[in-house]
Amino acid sequence: MQNKKHLVIAIDGPSGTGKSTTAKLIAKNLGLTYLDTGAMYRAITFAALSAKITPDNKEDLDQLLQSTTIDFDSENQVWVNGICREEEIRGAEVSKVVSIYSAIPAVRMALTEKQRQIGQKQNCILDGRDIGTVVFPHADYKFFLVTDIQVRARRRFLECQEKGISMTLEEIEKNLSERDLLDSSRETAPLKKAPDAIEIDTTQLSIQEQVKKIQDYVGVVA
Ligand code: C5P
Repeated sequence: MQNKKHLVIAIDGPSGTGKSTTAKLIAKNLGLTYLDTGAMYRAITFAALSAKITPDNKEDLDQLLQSTTIDFDSENQVWVNGICREEEIRGAEVSKVVSIYSAIPAVRMALTEKQRQIGQKQNCILDGRDIGTVVFPHADYKFFLVTDIQVRARRRFLECQEKGISMTLEEIEKNLSERDLLDSSRETAPLKKAPDAIEIDTTQLSIQEQVKKIQDYVGVVA
């Protein structure tokens, strides 16, 4: 389990609440390693789709989990089996099914283990759905971000436009709602606020305000 020598900050919440942008900035400001755990679930989903492995094919999925490498470069871009797949993992194809693959216990077990290994080695800020509840239940700081669905969809829409990903606002809002439902109703490690997490509603906050709010709780730790 967690080695208490290193600082761990957990940021959980539904999609589009600004977790990753906020966590990335805090990591930079405080000199922490940032781990985007959603990107890891997206990466394994991408690998499964590429290999045409359906969610019910447990044997091939187990094999895939053992043989797939997931790495991050210095710009936090995701590399799957040695190839940069940042664009593919953020696209509509992966977004549509990522919550289905993420609900599979074997997938969660393998990725949780990888996340713990990374978080135990260095001062870290991780964002995801189950960081404060399952991955690092003894994290030094836990935050749970919530935001109005329409605001989340608009933020994600602008992000997609910037990255050249073609999804309409309606498609994005539908995808966010479907993923929220699947993520919070699954049996293994569902999306939920840890009892000791600090909840922050980011509906009216800018990214800079979210960063400041969290850093004010954490204090200067670097
Ligand atoms: O954070 P992001 O929206 O990129 O995450 C994509 C999906 O990965 C989520 O909808 C969820 O199904 C899954 N996920 C998860 N547990 C995490 C992080 C992400 O199940 N810790």
